[in-house]
Amino acid sequence: MRVLGIEGTAWAASAAVFETADPSTHTDDEHVFIESDAYQPASGGIHPREAAEHMGEAVPQVVETAIEHAEERVAESSEDPASPIDAVAFSRGPGLGPCLRIVGTAARAVAQRFDVPLVGVNHMVAHLEVGRHFSGFDDPVCLNASGANAHILGYRNGRYRVLGETMDTGVGNALDKFTRHVGWSHPGGPKVERHAKEGEYLDLPYVVKGMDFSFSGIMSAAKQAVDEGEAVEDVCRGLEETIFAMLTEVSERALSLTDGDELVLGGGVAQNDRLRAMLAEMCDQRGADFYAPPAKFLRDNAGMIAVLGAKMFAAGDTVAIEESRVDSDYRPDQVDVSWRGRGAK
Ligand code: ATP
Repeated sequence: MRVLGIEGTAWAASAAVFETADPSTHTDDEHVFIESDAYQPASGGIHPREAAEHMGEAVPQVVETAIEHAEERVAESSEDPASPIDAVAFSRGPGLGPCLRIVGTAARAVAQRFDVPLVGVNHMVAHLEVGRHFSGFDDPVCLNASGANAHILGYRNGRYRVLGETMDTGVGNALDKFTRHVGWSHPGGPKVERHAKEGEYLDLPYVVKGMDFSFSGIMSAAKQAVDEGEAVEDVCRGLEETIFAMLTEVSERALSLTDGDELVLGGGVAQNDRLRAMLAEMCDQRGADFYAPPAKFLRDNAGMIAVLGAKMFAAGDTVAIEESRVDSDYRPDQVDVSWRGRGAK
């Protein structure tokens, strides 16, 4: 089957085609074609109206490129299908409402054009499932470290449960706010990573409460430290060590509480080498397996939407066009997990 995925929750207008004989069997990333066009704010952070304008222009283009790819794949094969794609999966939320509405409209139009079913995908569950798919892990705990979110998920009785989460901002957004304060352009996370390599550790507030955590205190302290003359490299190093230690602590506790032995990492901040190294070391020490997908599947991308969309489509989890409205607050624990089979615990 070939499933078209469309993503556009915030900054990445992206379309992908995932091709598979059996979406429940794990494959490598070569089976996923992705075309993306990123919104880059001229100054400051992501502006919802500008991001939506970008989606309006870029989504039709990336979708057409993905459809052309699917048509080429059909031409290369001996198949003669009624349509180059079997289903259209789209990011239903969470995300910026004006961006999501453009993605939803595009997905409905393509589904009607090819007369194929529509699949509404939760963007955060897709960050998790793409890692589960490529790793072949059975029942991982997942740390989503993305721009607008930060949470740890575990599967139980048909749903991904939120075991712990940020009490305020997403982890990437917290880093981006700090870098805006020091005058660096968006996105800030890669700049924090670069400068941290040159810095000495600086002590900053560490806030973990049970399975939840908070970034607002550490961000205020980091901004204040720079204003008071601390070297920005040292503050970046302190930020990385402190924030990633907090995420590593809750991930370890989640593994321990669920008796889990597999950890999957997702989200744009997961492109950070230091975060991956800390999690890998923690897993190594407890004898757990750790997996982080390649970078193009960590930041927002339609590949993960197409991969989870294929699993949902195979499970018959499609949505009628008249019920396919988007949901900017769509939480991962609202998703009825249709694709893991009845035997899953
Ligand atoms: P969500 O998936 O929750 O909707 P999002 O759409 O904002 O979030 P992602 O693509 O998951 O986006 O992540 C983008 C974030 O990742 C930005 O905040 C960016 O600063 C951060 N980021 C990117 N690369 C790095 C890095 N190397 N180190 C730390 N943070 C990074």
